[in-house]
Amino acid sequence: DLRMPTLNGLSLIQLLRPKWPDTSYLIVTGATRVDFPRRANGEPLVDEIVTKPWTLGQLAKILKTSIERARGRRAAANRHSSDLPVLFVGDPSESDAIRAHLPAPSAEADYRIAANASRALELAAHQDFRSAVIDLDLEGGGGYEAILSLRRSSPELPIIALGTHDDDAIHEQAIKAGAQDYLVKSEAGPYSVKRALRHVSEVKRIENRLDFLSTHDAVTGLSNRPAFREALGRAVARARSHDKKIAVLLLDVDRFKVVNDSLGHDVGDRLLKVVAERITNNLRDIDIAARLGGDEFAIVLEGVQDERPAIATAQRLLEALTPPAILNDYELSSTGSIGIALYPDHAESSAELLQRADQAMYRAKKDGRDNFAVYSDEEEESSSRVLERLTFESGIRHALEREEYVVFFQPQLTIDKKRLTGMEALVRWRHPKVGLVPPGRFMPFLESSGLIKGVGDWVLQTACAQAMKWHDTLVPGLRVSVNLSARQFEGNDLITVVENALERTGLPPTALELEITESLLMRDTQRTRRTLEALKGLGVRIAIDDFGTGYSSLAYLTTFPIDCLKIDRSFVHEICTNEDDRTVADAIIGLGHSLRLDVVAEGVETEEQLALLTGCDGFQGFLVSRPEPPDTAGEIIADFAARNKD
Ligand code: C2E
Ligand code: CA
Ligand code: CA
Repeated sequence: DLRMPTLNGLSLIQLLRPKWPDTSYLIVTGATRVDFPRRANGEPLVDEIVTKPWTLGQLAKILKTSIERARGRRAAANRHSSDLPVLFVGDPSESDAIRAHLPAPSAEADYRIAANASRALELAAHQDFRSAVIDLDLEGGGGYEAILSLRRSSPELPIIALGTHDDDAIHEQAIKAGAQDYLVKSEAGPYSVKRALRHVSEVKRIENRLDFLSTHDAVTGLSNRPAFREALGRAVARARSHDKKIAVLLLDVDRFKVVNDSLGHDVGDRLLKVVAERITNNLRDIDIAARLGGDEFAIVLEGVQDERPAIATAQRLLEALTPPAILNDYELSSTGSIGIALYPDHAESSAELLQRADQAMYRAKKDGRDNFAVYSDEEEESSSRVLERLTFESGIRHALEREEYVVFFQPQLTIDKKRLTGMEALVRWRHPKVGLVPPGRFMPFLESSGLIKGVGDWVLQTACAQAMKWHDTLVPGLRVSVNLSARQFEGNDLITVVENALERTGLPPTALELEITESLLMRDTQRTRRTLEALKGLGVRIAIDDFGTGYSSLAYLTTFPIDCLKIDRSFVHEICTNEDDRTVADAIIGLGHSLRLDVVAEGVETEEQLALLTGCDGFQGFLVSRPEPPDTAGEIIADFAARNKD
C-alpha cells in the first residue's frame, strides 16, 4: 500500500529493491494518475500499479502476471538480452520476411506476432522482448499507434519501424513517434536485421539514460528544474482548461549552505536526499515534486479549491522535516521555509506563479524560518506603499547634506567579557518626522540608488574620527569596525578613501577593521582580490560579516587575506534550542580556528547563548549593549578603561 504510517510503500520498495532487484513490486493506491520515481539506472522503481478499488480476482491476475514477469526477468538476467524474443507488430502474413532474417535459430517461442496495437500492448505487459518490429503499413495508422502506446507502456522496449519506402520523411516521422530505427522492407536481409536489432537496443539504452539524466536531479532523484517547469506549465494549462486551481509550494531548506560548507558536500547531499524523501513521503502520489537546485524544492498540488490543502501540506512537510537525521555522525534536524502561491488567485502564468511563491517564501524566512507563508496582500501592499516610499526617497536624497545621519556604536568584547576589543559603527538616519530609522529600512535604497557611496564614505570618516578620540584618551588599541557595502568595495577609489580617512583622522590602520559580507567575496574577481590585498597592505583588518548566510565555502574564503569571521546572529539566536545551529556554530568555530581566523559571535542576547559560544574569541550583542550614540558609547568605553585599571 502506498500510504502507510512511518514508512510508505515507495520508501519500502526503495529499501528492498537493491536487495532483490528482480522481484516484482506492486503498489496499491487510490490515485489515478501516478508518476513514480525511477531507479538510478533509469528503470522503473515500481512494476505494477494497482488502483483502488480492486477485487481479489483482479489482484490475483495482476499478481500472476507480475510473478511471471519477475520470473522472466530473472531468466533474462541469466540470459543475454539477445536471447529474448522479438515482438512483431503487423499483418501476420508479412511477418515471415523479417522472421526469416532473425539472427538466432528463431524458435517459435522467440518470435511473437501481434496483429494490432492493443494485442502488442497485451503481449508486452506479460513478457520482456528484445525489441519490437512494427510495420507502419498496418491499416489505419495502426503502426504509429503501436509505437506511441508501446513507448508509453514499455519505455524500455527498443522499437524498429518497418516501412515499404526508402523515404527520409517517413523515417523521421517514425523516429519522432518513438522508434529507434527505420528499416525498409525490401532491404531487410540477414545483415540489416541483425544490425538494426543491435543498434536499437544500444540507442534505447542511451536514450533512456539521457532522458533520465536530463529530467532528474542526480542527488535526490526528483525532477529537475527544466522538467519541473514543463510539468508546472502543463498543470497550469490543465487547470486553465478545466477551470480549476493549483497551488505551488516553494520550500527552501533553512541554512543548508552552512551545513554544506561546514560539514562538507557529502553530508550536504545526504541531507538533501533525506529532505527529498521526507517531501515525497508526505505528498499524494499525484503531486509533483522537484528540486530546483541548491536547497530549493518545489511542489505542485493540483485540483485544490483554495489555499487550505496547500497550508495543510506545508504544515505536514515542516513537521516531517524536523526529526533529526543521522548523517556521518552528525545529528541534523533541518527546518524549511515554504512559500505558497495559487493559480489563478495570485498569478496566471507558471513563471509568475513561481515568483509569487518565492516572494511568500522570502517572507516566511524573514518571519523566522521553519515557517510557511501564503502569498498575500502583504506583498502586494508594498506597491501601494510606493507613494509613501517616494516621499521617503526624496527625503533620503538630502539626508547626507542635511546631516541627518548619525553613527551608533556597539561594543565588541573578548569572550570572557573581560576586555573591550572594538566598537562596530552602525549608521542610523535621524528622520526629521519619523525619528531614528534603522539601516534595514533605508540601506537597500541607498544601495540601489548609488547614494550608499557618499553615505558609506561619510560613515567611514566619522567612525575613524570618533575612534581616534577614544583611542587617544581611553583605551589604546581599541578597534573600530566599519561595514562596507558592495558598491563601496567595488568602486574605484576605496583604497584612496580609506587612506584619506586614516590620514585625516590620524587613526592607526591597525585600529580599523572593515566588515564585508560573504556574498561580496563570492563575486570573486581578480579585482576583489587586488582590493583586499591593497587594504591589507594599508594594515587594516578584514572581517567577514554575517558568516554562514552566504554560499561560500570556508576553505575557499580563506584564500583571501582575511582576519576574522563574524558568525551571523541568526545562528546565535536559536543556539540554545536548535541543535543544528549549535552544530553549525561549533563547526564554524573549529574550522575558523584551524584556519587561524578570529571568530566573533554576533547578536548574543543571553548568558545561556554566551555559554554555548565559549569557543569564540569575541562577541557582541544586546547582552552587553545595544548600539548607542557616541556619548553613551564613550561612557561604556570609559567604564571598561576604569575597570582594566583596577
Ligand atoms: P550587521 O553588520 O550585521 O550589524 C549588526 C546588526 O545586529 C545591527 O543592526 C545591530 O543593532 C544588531 N544587533 C546587535 N546586537 C544584537 C543582538 O543582541 N540581538 C539582535 N537581535 N540584534 C543585534 P542594525 O544597526 O539595524 O544594522 C543592520 C545592518 O545594516 C547591519 O548589519 C549592516 O549590514 C547594515 N549597516 C549598518 N550600518 C552600516 C554602514 O555604515 N554601512 C553599511 N554598508 N552597512 C551598514
Ligand atoms: Ca557588521
Ligand atoms: Ca552581521
